[in-house]
Amino acid sequence: MKGVVIKSVGNTYNVQVNNKIFKCNYRGKYKLSNNFSNPIVSGDIVELELISKETGIIEKIYERKNYFLKKSLKDNKAHIIASNIDQTLIMGSIKSPYTKLKFIDKCISASYFYEIKPIILFNKIDLLNKEEEEKLNEISSIYNSLNIKLFTASVKENINLNEVSEILNNKRTLIIGNSGIGKSSLINFLTGKKSQRTDDLSLKTGRGKQTTTFSEIFSLKNNGKVVDTPGFKDFYFHDIDKNDLKFLYPEFKIKNNQCKFNNCNHQNEPGCIIKENIGKSISERRYNNYLSILNEID
Ligand code: GDP
Ligand code: ZN
Repeated sequence: MKGVVIKSVGNTYNVQVNNKIFKCNYRGKYKLSNNFSNPIVSGDIVELELISKETGIIEKIYERKNYFLKKSLKDNKAHIIASNIDQTLIMGSIKSPYTKLKFIDKCISASYFYEIKPIILFNKIDLLNKEEEEKLNEISSIYNSLNIKLFTASVKENINLNEVSEILNNKRTLIIGNSGIGKSSLINFLTGKKSQRTDDLSLKTGRGKQTTTFSEIFSLKNNGKVVDTPGFKDFYFHDIDKNDLKFLYPEFKIKNNQCKFNNCNHQNEPGCIIKENIGKSISERRYNNYLSILNEID
């Protein structure tokens, strides 16, 4: 019987078949891959053998359409955030908390690398004054010019949430954003109920850190599904190399072959067309963050 993993807790996995959820362990014939710090993840489609009305055994994991990886800081292995995703919803805010555009750019690059469509959502617009609204407009125009959808919303004041809900319809969306940005609030709105997510808040320690770090899938009122990623503060790439990054910037694409050196990474190389276009077709902020992300990759 086929099911979808919607949550993992230690070595137990909640697997959904139609509308029923079974608690399962893995006991397949094949050894789980040792390359991942978490070999089974929310979103995985698995073959299940039921052993009772509520429990089952995962026999096998079907091939993943895609996944989103970050480096596991524990063992440097790949940590799979989620698999079989249609799009990422990258959440940010101008204030409380302020989101660095570098974080957003990193999420966008990783989405492109794993062939997942990125969408941006700036939440908490109810808090913005005129000047901050201006700032957000500028940011918005940068991403719009790259054909990346950027929504502005307030979950608290119910502003623009219908548009957000619509884009999630019939899709499986990975929601990424720093703690405090409004993920739980948004998920509660979209599921129409106080989901488990809010209960997890009690697990938060002092500075908003969470002890649960596994992704979980929630079904929305509109047939969409979201994958919630608690504790997604910052992350490091796992398998994206220095030479890959430039291909993950849509605004570099038509120019990538025109630099003097054909392996130009657009840093300090002479005759770099990308550098010549900064402030013209290439946003200076995006470029500076590109350099900063490049420097993080070893
Ligand atoms: P999470 O850590 O990303 O899950 O964020 P939460 O959903 O727990 O939200 C963190 C805080 O921000 C809570 O106090 C929410 O009530 C508040 N919040 C969420 N959305 C908004 C918003 O649109 N505007 C304002 N002013 N506060 C918000
Ligand atoms: Zn160059």
